[in-house]
Amino acid sequence: MSTPSDLPAVTVLGLGPMGRALAGAFLAAGLRTTVWNRTPGRDRELTARGAAGAGSAEEAVCGAELTVVCVVNYDASDAVLRRDDVTRALKGRTLVNLSADTPDRARDTAGWAAAHGIGYLDGAIMTPAPSIGTPEAVFLHSGPRDLYEEHRAVLETLGGAHTHLGEEPGLAATFDIALLDIFWTAMAGYAHAVALARAEGVTARELMPFAQGIATILPPLFAQFAQDADSGSYSGEINPITSAASTMAHVVAASEAHGIDAGVMRAVEGMARRVIGLGHGTDGFIRVAEVLGRR
Ligand code: NDP
Repeated sequence: MSTPSDLPAVTVLGLGPMGRALAGAFLAAGLRTTVWNRTPGRDRELTARGAAGAGSAEEAVCGAELTVVCVVNYDASDAVLRRDDVTRALKGRTLVNLSADTPDRARDTAGWAAAHGIGYLDGAIMTPAPSIGTPEAVFLHSGPRDLYEEHRAVLETLGGAHTHLGEEPGLAATFDIALLDIFWTAMAGYAHAVALARAEGVTARELMPFAQGIATILPPLFAQFAQDADSGSYSGEINPITSAASTMAHVVAASEAHGIDAGVMRAVEGMARRVIGLGHGTDGFIRVAEVLGRR
């Protein structure tokens, strides 16, 4: 039978909604879990469940071979980690940074870690806090494969799917920003659609099943567009961008007739018009990706 001291130990720095969910999942999996947060008091529920509450980040780091940091961004993780006492304590240990930021910040942190003898994995969480500890959670990792394999079993106690994308430390953040790009522009489109439908007397609930229908169209389109984007074929046979731009103009006109800001759709239409202006009017919408990428 295992005793508490046989169990792997892990430290979690940062106890926002996500940090608390991570620490809670480690606890639920039976790991010895030490927690710390800049603002005291956020560890109450976790310590009541058996976590060790540390008085400082340095003390927390000393509690385990593996430290997971999950704070708002890398300015915040720098503020926590790049203090002499914490950096010293991390030397020879492994740090997994599950905070979100840009690929450059991830690479910079990997360089700092290497310079201080800290094993470093960068990561991104692609699902909301309530998914942690369930099969729905999605984690992306990048950094040295052997280090990932060494800590994989502990990381997998967080549930869901874990993918090691490669050794380049910016990879997890690259996928993160690309996926956030999809998510937030889609959410902006949805919020705008609700405002526009309401202005015409249609409730969000009435729109909902059809909005969900639009969302289900997207996965097969993504598969087709990925092929087009990687092969450079951009076929507009089914829906040429001239036709698409015309539907975008309807949304802009209807919005502005109601005094609703149409800035997002105006931007999308502007991209389509640019593609048409460059002589690609018979191509599909995904030609935008190629044109945007031109320097
Ligand atoms: P927040 O993004 O709001 O981050 C809050 C945490 O950051 C708190 O622990 C806060 O400490 C800490 N923090 C902020 N600034 C500093 C600083 N200067 N020094 C030290 N600590 C600081 O909450 P979440 O927990 O939700 O998110 C954490 C990370 O997880 C983010 O990068 C987020 O993008 C990512 N994520 C979150 C998801 C979610 O569903 N919540 C989903 C997927 C990813 P304090 O309490 O002292 O203010």
